Amino acid sequence: VEGRVVVVRSWEELGPHVRGTIVLYDVPMRGDLPPRVAYGQVARFRVRGAIEAARHGAVGVLVRSLTTRSLDTPHTGMMRYEEGVPRIPAAAIPTEQAARIARLAARGEVRLRLSLESRTRSAVPSANVIAEIPGDSPEVVLLGAHLDSWDVGCGAHDDGAGVVQVLEAMRRIRALGQRPRRTIRAVLFSNEERGLDGARAYLQGFGRQPHLAAIESDLGGGLPLAWAMEGTPAQRAWLLPIAALTDLPVDEEPDSGADISVLAAQGTLLLGLRPDDTHYFDVHHTAGDTLDKVDPAALARGASALAALAWELAQAPALEPAR
Ligand SMILES: [Zn+2]
Repeated sequence: VEGRVVVVRSWEELGPHVRGTIVLYDVPMRGDLPPRVAYGQVARFRVRGAIEAARHGAVGVLVRSLTTRSLDTPHTGMMRYEEGVPRIPAAAIPTEQAARIARLAARGEVRLRLSLESRTRSAVPSANVIAEIPGDSPEVVLLGAHLDSWDVGCGAHDDGAGVVQVLEAMRRIRALGQRPRRTIRAVLFSNEERGLDGARAYLQGFGRQPHLAAIESDLGGGLPLAWAMEGTPAQRAWLLPIAALTDLPVDEEPDSGADISVLAAQGTLLLGLRPDDTHYFDVHHTAGDTLDKVDPAALARGASALAALAWELAQAPALEPAR
């Protein structure tokens, strides 16, 4: 497609004037907030940008990459179309390029021709990878991460780091040579990035089994700092002394993990490993998300934390159901 570029920085700036144009969402990710929070604020422009622009007649969309620090590398990621709204092409561009186009557009008319080779093919079969250390009780403590990544890179942090931590945590628990009280199950989910298909398939296959707690690692391989927790006050009170054994604080916050979120309806205590994510979004969903960006010592600390928490949750006295 080809058209004049209109730069917008909020949904409100869309209107009839974008008809026939290419909309550039030039919304910087804030650097003064925790990175995962700042990311959550701007992800909507990538996810829904094509839908909202197409509603107003735009013919294409460009999205400023969701990062505070760029080395002229585009950051890809999930985007949606909606039934009844034209499916217009959309691409992410590096922050440097977005800023440049915005500068030029402020001075005069900018025209662009978009030539994209990407396309969505039909779905193909895939699989979750599941392994467990059986306990005396069928009650499950789940350790999760996701196997898939984006095509531009190899996904070392997202979510290779989480996958390796889950494998290593299971290896360490097995090396104890003790049978846990509850069953500890590792789940490497398929297709988190394009819509949680693996998580939904897991729920279908195993959702009727009792899940006491689920822990996810999907924020990179940085130094572990805290546990994010979603649960009831009773679950929190039960968790605190257990989590204290890992030397990490518990923060109540939403989005402990995308894949394990499907267990929320079951009342499972949901936990997310919160590593230092200062540099996570520098490489997130880019060709630069490679193994050289992962610090082995930090990665190992995360694996230790997962192993310790999973083991202690599996051994802890019963959490009495709320009456
Ligand atoms: Zn991920």
